[in-house]
Amino acid sequence: MKIANDVKAILAFYQSLGFERLPIDIRKKDPGGKGYKGPGMKIEEPRTPYNARITRPSSTDKEAALKALRDEIGDCTRCKLSAGRKNIVFGEGSHDAVLMFIGEAPGREEDIQARPFVGDAGKLLTRLVEKMGFRREDVYIGNIVKCRPPLNRDPEEDEIGTCIQFIRKQVEIIAPKVIVSLGRISAQTLIGTKVPISRLRGTFYEYQGTPLMATFHPAYLLRNPKEKWTVWEDALKVLERLGQE
Ligand code: URA
Repeated sequence: MKIANDVKAILAFYQSLGFERLPIDIRKKDPGGKGYKGPGMKIEEPRTPYNARITRPSSTDKEAALKALRDEIGDCTRCKLSAGRKNIVFGEGSHDAVLMFIGEAPGREEDIQARPFVGDAGKLLTRLVEKMGFRREDVYIGNIVKCRPPLNRDPEEDEIGTCIQFIRKQVEIIAPKVIVSLGRISAQTLIGTKVPISRLRGTFYEYQGTPLMATFHPAYLLRNPKEKWTVWEDALKVLERLGQE
């Protein structure tokens, strides 16, 4: 107990000096964490000296903003998808994520668990995230629409039009360095085009000023496993871009 009290006192001391974290460099032991820039990438020196007061929006502000947004959605009946859903799938992950994945809509398992990408396609997405050097909880994962369409059909224009405001606000709050849009619906919606995903993937676009990489949906990869290599190529470009930001 004494050790715990001593540690608390040391932390309070550093906090009183204006530190937001301890002045020790854990970044190299922190793969996938905040300081991590992707495999083999140069780690920049911190731009803010450890003894300066940091003014960027805190993780707590982002957490509160996301909670307020979830409250605003409430028990939503803004579109017809509400009639058939079990749960709203808001999205999950780190409020401080540098990388955000956006899919199209919850499926059966997501609807049951109220969590994005937890079915078979989700397991594949988690493997991709880990192969990129992150833990799933370090990135943020959301969808274009927050309720499961009947029989997993594509979300319709009016449903997307009603729900898009929420993922847009999630992007604004989290302010990731790079967005990866998964599959046709997500890419076409965020880029604002009808160009097929086979032509959109592999290139960076912008969504609200944030670089956006379009790639194939993990569900498509379950049916076309050879395309995993293509997605990996896209992921490498994302890691390179994160290394530059
Ligand atoms: N497919 C999606 O696009 N989103 C999910 O959350 C699950 C499957």
